[in-house]
Amino acid sequence: MTELLRVEDVHFTYASLPVLKGVSFSVEKGETVSLLGPNGSGKTTLLKILLGLLRPRSGGVFLDGAPVGSIAPKTLAKRVAYVPQVHRMAFAYRVKDVVLMGRTPHKPFFSRYSAEDREIAHQALERLSILHLGEKRYTEISGGERQLTLIARALAQGADALVMDEPANGLDYGNQVRLLEHIDDLSRDGYTFILSTHFPEHALWIADRAVLLKKGLIEAVGKPDEVMHAAAICGLYNTEIDILTVEGGFKTCIPRAIVRRMNAGRGLRVLTGTPYVESAWRPEDAPKRMVR
Ligand code: ADP
Repeated sequence: MTELLRVEDVHFTYASLPVLKGVSFSVEKGETVSLLGPNGSGKTTLLKILLGLLRPRSGGVFLDGAPVGSIAPKTLAKRVAYVPQVHRMAFAYRVKDVVLMGRTPHKPFFSRYSAEDREIAHQALERLSILHLGEKRYTEISGGERQLTLIARALAQGADALVMDEPANGLDYGNQVRLLEHIDDLSRDGYTFILSTHFPEHALWIADRAVLLKKGLIEAVGKPDEVMHAAAICGLYNTEIDILTVEGGFKTCIPRAIVRRMNAGRGLRVLTGTPYVESAWRPEDAPKRMVR
């Protein structure tokens, strides 16, 4: 694999508050990297530094070996796109126009969008399966649809790396799953994702690598399988959870209180604290058995 981004010993301070204290990791091309950590651990700050929006006090971020700070914003935007959390726009633009705005870094000032720009926006809408929303107003579509629109805009921007700050926030469960499917799908096509998340399960499901950040310090970096063990996640969030492996090696995160209840009352042989669920317990049974 080829390295795309390298974060090297980044320190950052807001006024007198040290927020990042020597953060280092790298992102390979085509990887999905999940950034996990409790509120206030510095995830958003780190993402802003990756995007060149904030400058580290010391250390640096390198894109293909070049310091991000030395890359012109328009040039950087063609490589790395920021996908914001779902938000309401002040103006009721049509979805297809929101996606078309992704072409802005490719245009000289005040020039019109070309037929090629429109075709690229069309393809991005198609890629996210939201072509049918093109004529709708961004203000009138659902949160899940808005998130897909913002990803389509990032694709239209031509970027091959997408930075997302808690993309699943505010989405209902179905839309979270659809979002993860799209991210997973795009990453198989070679797109790189760097995303912060509040959901350890999401990292277990789709990430190639997890970065565990607490109080501005990296606690672990590595394959989710290797670094997202129960003790690490308990320590990260100061709560009791288990990481369970179901048949096929699929892993998920579950509060330990629920595991205890399952062990006590239902004859389910879930082994607390060990990453293993009795194989007779089929994954499709999980929701029925867990809900009283
Ligand atoms: P996270 O995304 O993990 O919740 P943030 O990067 O948003 O963490 O914040 C890290 C710390 O920096 C927090 O203590 C937060 O209050 C502080 N902080 C964030 N933005 C600013 C700012 N613009 N000015 C001063 N402090 C900030």
